[in-house]
Amino acid sequence: MDYPSPEYCCPNCFAHPTLLSIIEDESRDEGRCDFCSSEAVPLIHVSALCKAFHNAVRIYHPADSGSTVAPWEDAWDKGEPLYQALDGGCHVFSDLLSGTEEAARLLQAILESGWDDDSGEPLPDACELVVARRSWVHQTPAESWRDFSYAILHDESLDHYIPESVDEDIHILKRKLSQDTLFRAQRGFATDQFGRKVPYTGKRIGAPPPEKAKPGRANKQCEVVFYAAEQRETAVAEVRPARGLLVSVGEFEINQPTNILDLLHKPARVDPFVDEGFEYWIDFWSLMQEFAQSLSKPLERDDRPEIDYRPTQWLTKWFRNRGFDGIRYPSALHENGVNIVLFDPRQVTFRESSLVKVDDVEWSFSPYREEEE
Ligand SMILES: [Zn+2]
Repeated sequence: MDYPSPEYCCPNCFAHPTLLSIIEDESRDEGRCDFCSSEAVPLIHVSALCKAFHNAVRIYHPADSGSTVAPWEDAWDKGEPLYQALDGGCHVFSDLLSGTEEAARLLQAILESGWDDDSGEPLPDACELVVARRSWVHQTPAESWRDFSYAILHDESLDHYIPESVDEDIHILKRKLSQDTLFRAQRGFATDQFGRKVPYTGKRIGAPPPEKAKPGRANKQCEVVFYAAEQRETAVAEVRPARGLLVSVGEFEINQPTNILDLLHKPARVDPFVDEGFEYWIDFWSLMQEFAQSLSKPLERDDRPEIDYRPTQWLTKWFRNRGFDGIRYPSALHENGVNIVLFDPRQVTFRESSLVKVDDVEWSFSPYREEEE
């Protein structure tokens, strides 16, 4: 006796919200699921999910040495069965099916249900070893930026290529500064005519004159930019004060419309089952995260900023050439703190300042290990 091939799946098979909503919209019958064996559940024919899955599996390619896997890597080690790779990348299957043979059978049934034989493409095999990388010679923009950040430390003349599409899409991260007050701190204080300690004011706490501008994340020596923070605490943390030190904190007002590049912009959700260009957006957002990390990462040594800030100086120039007035990026010295750099200090006006005493500074350390790099 021939058993009919399994054809009907149910909401208990899946975890991904897009798949659950397709089932909710398209299910017409109830019964027993052919895959997870749930009883009296809404059922849909596997072909209803075919389009969504064909979109999602596009980024996986057979693990072949020399084409998708580097010749010095082991294709067996690098590859993963398609049904597991997809599940790991997108959290597709429910706990009932995840990692089981039923998950592989379900994926196979879905893919076969609507495969276009005339397309010339081979039908994917749910159990075939695959990798998500397109090619071992092709780096993602984020990987390529990481390599460049390292290489420019050794050779300042190097240049970097950022894809033209990123050049256009980076404007998604453009926004007006939402708050009109920024904080900027300076270690130390002034004294008034009675010998009392008072905070620095005006130009003394604003951006330095060109001859005094030291190299920083976003500027070379003698280039003037305005570094500030959105929070008072962040501004104080950014001057790395020791315990007991007095720090002047200035408040500045934004005096004109300011378009900044917001590297704290939350990545838009990329849905592999719906978005046709989803692999591009995955690359785009991971590049933006890499940029944010570059800008917030503290230096490992502070005796050669003119070298160690080269990668972020290059990046800042690139942003600047695209018409942004500044950058919003995370602070590495104050948790959840936000830093701003404005390329033109004339965009802010000094309002007032106050003097604070640093009561405590926390620190911790661990043995340094080369392999963590
Ligand atoms: Zn099911």
